[in-house]
Amino acid sequence: MNSKFEELKDYLAEIHDLYTVASVLSWDQQTYMPIAGVESRAMQMATLIKHAHELFVSDKTGQLLDDAKAEISDKDYDSLEVSLVRVTRRKYNRLIKIPTKLVVELTKATSLGDIVWRKARETSDFSIFQPHLEKILDLTIQKAEALGYEDRIYDALLYEFEPEMKTSQVEKLFNELKTGLIPIVKAISNKLDIIDDSIFDQEFDEDKQWNFGIEVIKNLGFDFKRGRQDCSAHPFTTGFSTDDVRITTHIYKDQFKSALFSSIHEAGHAMYAQGLDKKFNRTILRNGASLGVHESQSRLWENIIGRNKNFWIFWLPHLKKFFPTQLEEVDVNTFYKAINKVEPSLIRIEADEITYNLHIFLRFEIENLMLEHKIKVRDLPELWNSKMKEYLGIFPENDAKGILQDIHWSHGMIGYFPTYSLGNMLSVLFYNHAVKDIPAIPDEIKEGNFEPLLNWMREKIHKEGAKYTPGELVKRVTGEPIQTEPFLTYIKKKYSDIYDL
Ligand code: MG
Repeated sequence: MNSKFEELKDYLAEIHDLYTVASVLSWDQQTYMPIAGVESRAMQMATLIKHAHELFVSDKTGQLLDDAKAEISDKDYDSLEVSLVRVTRRKYNRLIKIPTKLVVELTKATSLGDIVWRKARETSDFSIFQPHLEKILDLTIQKAEALGYEDRIYDALLYEFEPEMKTSQVEKLFNELKTGLIPIVKAISNKLDIIDDSIFDQEFDEDKQWNFGIEVIKNLGFDFKRGRQDCSAHPFTTGFSTDDVRITTHIYKDQFKSALFSSIHEAGHAMYAQGLDKKFNRTILRNGASLGVHESQSRLWENIIGRNKNFWIFWLPHLKKFFPTQLEEVDVNTFYKAINKVEPSLIRIEADEITYNLHIFLRFEIENLMLEHKIKVRDLPELWNSKMKEYLGIFPENDAKGILQDIHWSHGMIGYFPTYSLGNMLSVLFYNHAVKDIPAIPDEIKEGNFEPLLNWMREKIHKEGAKYTPGELVKRVTGEPIQTEPFLTYIKKKYSDIYDL
């Protein structure tokens, strides 16, 4: 007879399959599905999620969790068995608070919201999206209230993406970051013109951009035998097992940096997903420790590596073979400075490493106001624009480049944006520790060898999956808590060199 633990594992595996099939549908919706299919797709998603939720929050799960826990009481905290029970129990205790009806409503609203958002962004018309966002926000507030919180409503939602992190902690970290970053932005703003990035004012053939991007991410370690890349309105990564991880990018002829850095960013997420222990397939552990830790990987490859001079010492000669006319004259120093030009810009995902964080502060403040009923959805575009002016000194000419630029709210992902800046901080913390352990990493990058760095990440972070909370994982890997200092030091050094500050 099967043990109780095996019974639990098999039961959870079927539920995991249902959620995974829903992610396949979501991938399809964002890549190839004709928009006309949206109504039926919303129903299909809602049906799947309803069954998955009902099975998961059933008394049976609770009973199996209790029985399995008793049975494996001699196993270690770190073992797959104890970790699976612990992490599942944490999720179970949360999800049983959310009524199935609310889960179904949210799934329908966000599936429709995705398509309506795309239409609204294409036509730059917030009024189309407004009723959908009102509905999504209302349901999300209901969800947060059902989950409960002690201090701030934001805490209830943040937990889903960054377990055990509190809104007040995020505020403290963000205030430190602001204090550190704003003087650098000011100092650079007097020297904006010293960086010549006119090479990017040219057109770059889309197919060649695609092919170059593929070559780069293959070399970094994205395994195309266990994944693929497609195009979507907003780049994203999703995975159905460690052997099937999908990424997307978007390509614009007149914005060379966009496709490449999106591909590298998503490949960073994907290498994490491909690097998880295969034993975690069909379990809740087939996940990152948190979205902040996930972003630490995507931002690491995108910025610390992809915007690194050593990286371009290796890659620029290859890139010149793809674009001999456009790049004939450029040397590595000029190219390196051009890809790191700091400039207040409207679109978060295209922003430089410094001002990127200002976009996150703005979004985090607005989300808190939304959840605390301090702003109406219809007034969001105006608030957005005034905050852009306050933080970045620029003003979007339309809502497509303002409030409508990101997909996440349409997916109900409210309480999620801080994970990007947490990821920035963690990326530097992890990279510093990797180099401390393997001092040759920077020189290896110059040779186009990314294996030592990837292997370090695999060993310390990827293979652990979702076994530990982000706080536990960061402590285990670095011996330190998440903090702003390493990131600020990295930024100061890099940009003092580039801008001669
Ligand atoms: Mg990301």
